[in-house]
Amino acid sequence: MGKPTGFKEFERQTEPYREVEVRVDDYGEIFTGQHDDDHLQTQGARCMDCGVPFCMSGTGCPINNLIPEWNHLVYMGQWQRALNRLHKTNNFPEFTGRVCPAPCEGSCVLGITNPAVTIKNIEHAIIDHGFEQDWVTAAPPENRTGHAVAVIGSGPAGLAAAAQLNKAGHNVTVYERADRIGGLLMYGIPNMKLGKDIVQRRVDLLHAEGIEFVTNADVGGSGNDAVDIDDLIKEFDAILFATGATNPRNLDVPGRELSGIHFAMEFLTANTRSLLDSNLQDGNYLSAKDKNVIVIGGGDTGTDCIGTSIRHGCKSLVNFELLPKPPAERAEDNPWPLWPVIQRVDYGHEEGVERFGHDPRQYCILTKEFVSDDNGNVKGVKSIEVKWTRVDGKWNMEEVPGSEKIWEADLVLLSMGFLGPEHYLSSRVGMEYDGRSNYKAEYGRYATSVKGIYAAGDCRRGQSLVVWGINEGREAAREIDRDLMGTTSLP
Ligand SMILES: Cc1cc2nc3c(=O)[nH]c(=O)nc-3n(C[C@H](O)[C@H](O)[C@H](O)COP(=O)(O)OP(=O)(O)OC[C@H]3O[C@@H](n4cnc5c(N)ncnc54)[C@H](O)[C@@H]3O)c2cc1C
Ligand code: SF4
Repeated sequence: MGKPTGFKEFERQTEPYREVEVRVDDYGEIFTGQHDDDHLQTQGARCMDCGVPFCMSGTGCPINNLIPEWNHLVYMGQWQRALNRLHKTNNFPEFTGRVCPAPCEGSCVLGITNPAVTIKNIEHAIIDHGFEQDWVTAAPPENRTGHAVAVIGSGPAGLAAAAQLNKAGHNVTVYERADRIGGLLMYGIPNMKLGKDIVQRRVDLLHAEGIEFVTNADVGGSGNDAVDIDDLIKEFDAILFATGATNPRNLDVPGRELSGIHFAMEFLTANTRSLLDSNLQDGNYLSAKDKNVIVIGGGDTGTDCIGTSIRHGCKSLVNFELLPKPPAERAEDNPWPLWPVIQRVDYGHEEGVERFGHDPRQYCILTKEFVSDDNGNVKGVKSIEVKWTRVDGKWNMEEVPGSEKIWEADLVLLSMGFLGPEHYLSSRVGMEYDGRSNYKAEYGRYATSVKGIYAAGDCRRGQSLVVWGINEGREAAREIDRDLMGTTSLP
């Protein structure tokens, strides 16, 4: 275990982000890029190595990271051994160490009485040390099985599956319709949270291990970059769909057709592409500069729209949240070890306070209509306040009469979640869907209704997290390997 008395001696202290007033002027990562080893050893020492480490299973880490083991190794200063343990369960700790919301910390046993161990910071530092020390190197498989597997979609689910299948000796080709590999790691989560050099570094390693990547390849599509799924079915022994939940939820209220109203992903994707292509010099992005911006919907996507709008130099910024402000502490019906539903201040909210003097979030706000400037552009959003009450255990929403308000807006970003995968590819192979329009495939098995085709990640489970994508990609690889070989040694 860490230090037997560590949790009594040391307070939880997370690694600080870069200063808010400095980082809002660039698109560099919010992290400092430096880890204080002495500090992290002290934080690792807080791990109690409790009898049942809830952090690494159940409601904790979805990929069962061996958290108490690497906490202990970090406390002992044995970073390379910690890295080896970390890579046993996680193909991409440099992604999760940066962007995972850390359900492990919500389940940390120390968290019952004290602030949880800083598990995510420690994970981040272990992998950063690994790259700095050149301990992370390409490890191609010694033998090839002769089987070929196609992975469609290159987000965390597709990449984790490809890594595992390649490790098992299969020849893996990843098809991606975008011009760069990485899915939402590349064109969703902004540079501030996950540098694109970090994503590309891992893609290069996977390529060096033998995985082939084909970009601008829209499988089942109908444009110039289309790839025929029937050709892939003939060419490959198995196919994994890891196409993500890319279908955004719309807000169908009067005025939706006005110009200036966009889905969050149009805004975020174009910004990252333009940054990577030309450092925003090509003008191929939606600018929030000098605009009154309203972001409708919260979550990671809403926060990323806030952070990006601030960097563009928006004039004002409001974030509508339909739900009430969460409590500061766990509510009675949200006990440990469940994910704590509490008020959190993410990087974008901190930056809103720095730029505008207040948190941009407004709670219990329902959008009623978009207001036109009579030239086809949005000039405002009409909202009404709502009240939430619990009736027979179910939440009920009521509008508050007389609470209508018009907010000035020249740019509205819709960030209200996603409704599963697009269906143009799946319909070509006659795939079945579940009740939420995701590809139907049992969790833990991943086989779809079409023989030889599997599904993993957000396209199967609905919009989720990077760590869940890695979990499903790894497990789907195991099932594909088992079906191809009759047995499997993949975890
Ligand atoms: C803005 C934003 C911020 C987020 N922030 C976080 C965060 O901080 N932490 C976190 O844990 N999670 C975050 N998430 C969620 C997380 O990114 C996703 O859960 C995760 O990326 C899903 O992985 P995936 O591999 O299933 O799909 P995706 O990452 O969506 O990748 C799917 C890929 O498939 C490709 N594709 C689709 N159809 C085809 C086709 N027919 N042919 C070829 N390619 C195709 C797509 O272009 C895409 O690249 C965020 C999501 C968004 C939108
Ligand atoms: S991947 Fe996420 S849940 Fe798992 S240990 Fe890392 S931060 Fe915690």
